[in-house]
Amino acid sequence: MNTFEDLNLKKQLKNAIADLGFEKPTPIQQASYSPILGGSDFVGIAQTGTGKTIAYLLPILQDLKFSDQPHPRVLVLAPTRELVIQIVAQIEKLTPYITVRVLGVYGGTNNMNSQKNAVSEGIDIIVGTPRRLYDLALTNVLRLKSIKKLVIDEVDIMLDFGYKTQLKNIFEHLPIKRQNILFSATMTTYVDELMDDFLVNPVKKTISISGTPLDTISQEAYAVPNFYTKANLLNHLLKDKEAHSKVLIFVGTKVGADRLFETLNFESETSVIHSSKEQNHRTKSIESFVNGTSRILIATDVISRGIDIEKITTVISFDTPLYPENYIHRIGRTGRAEQQGRAILFYNEKEIALKEAIESLMNYTIPFNELPEEVEVISQLTPEEKPKPLDPPESPHKNTAIEVGASFHEKSAKNSKERIEKKSYSKKIKERYGKPLRRGDKIQNMKKKRK
Ligand code: AMP
Repeated sequence: MNTFEDLNLKKQLKNAIADLGFEKPTPIQQASYSPILGGSDFVGIAQTGTGKTIAYLLPILQDLKFSDQPHPRVLVLAPTRELVIQIVAQIEKLTPYITVRVLGVYGGTNNMNSQKNAVSEGIDIIVGTPRRLYDLALTNVLRLKSIKKLVIDEVDIMLDFGYKTQLKNIFEHLPIKRQNILFSATMTTYVDELMDDFLVNPVKKTISISGTPLDTISQEAYAVPNFYTKANLLNHLLKDKEAHSKVLIFVGTKVGADRLFETLNFESETSVIHSSKEQNHRTKSIESFVNGTSRILIATDVISRGIDIEKITTVISFDTPLYPENYIHRIGRTGRAEQQGRAILFYNEKEIALKEAIESLMNYTIPFNELPEEVEVISQLTPEEKPKPLDPPESPHKNTAIEVGASFHEKSAKNSKERIEKKSYSKKIKERYGKPLRRGDKIQNMKKKRK
């Protein structure tokens, strides 16, 4: 089943695919089409960027007959409003020649009433975030008893967002007899749990093993001691506007994202987005990044999943993510549609264990880059980086290249003359601390416990 012809799609879908210019189904599309069309419960482990959305939409749309019944027959749950918007857009792209009533619902804006009105006009497919979906179901305007197919997209992030209870509540409103389709970038204990609790003999297809990044992404890592030095390195790298013509920068916290926005030299070319920003601001930031008005987008992990922005040249992890899977999601924003992408990771001393957890998940050591000579090492710390009163006293044997607290001028002088010191940053840290303790693979540990 290597071509769209082999799928025997109805003419309207075939024409839509032709308009989109897709030449052949991606591996996850090939693997999922028949089982989903056949009505089996299905679990697809595939990353964003693999064509997973269309992988479940095609068989669902192929099977969906025209109806003017008021209540939806297909429910798609997604963790973020951005992903909801994107899924609705993909459905619209696939259905210019089919009459399908689609509605996306999500919270965050004061639009519950307009969503209720839209629901009451009658819909075939409803796409929504769990909380808003459940709120609508409670109003009784949205009736879920006619749902035939349930899709849960990005299941792994549902848990991160604390949606477990909402999902269970929604399940109670659904008919018992239905087809369940789950998609997740990584296999997690939660996916396992859902499979055990709610799915009947599901067909499971894994497109790339858990944590394997796309091969079109080249990866590199820099050891950088603190926030302001990371910002200096970023300013240095971003000067190359040709190599880095569309850059997505991930920062671990909202405060950090805002601080980086204020610290970077490229203010007029930079947008920032995180969950505390108004929806309007978020939409505008994404738009200006998509249309190229902003070359640089600073983001937290909230938008890391699902956001489909094309031609990102570079993904920079300004902070090393706490969950190794998030790194895979971050870098999956680049190297899409067979284009070469570049992923750059910054890590400090405290983040070494996190970097190692990522490497062990990928079974790949990220190539190490020396801090460029021109990048000044700064001693100033952010309030979050400053030692807390209860922190153990600093070791007297600190490496000069990562030393903090010395004056800026001392530091830059050291940086310019003591290249050897700087070179041995990661080695010295290893010498000092031995092999950093790993956080441990949560999934493996759970599995071991179960046995
Ligand atoms: P997803 O993994 O669903 O986020 O999809 C990533 C991107 O791949 C989207 O922009 C899709 O429009 C695109 N895409 C999906 N299927 C195909 C295909 N068969 N050929 C080329 N591009 C595709």
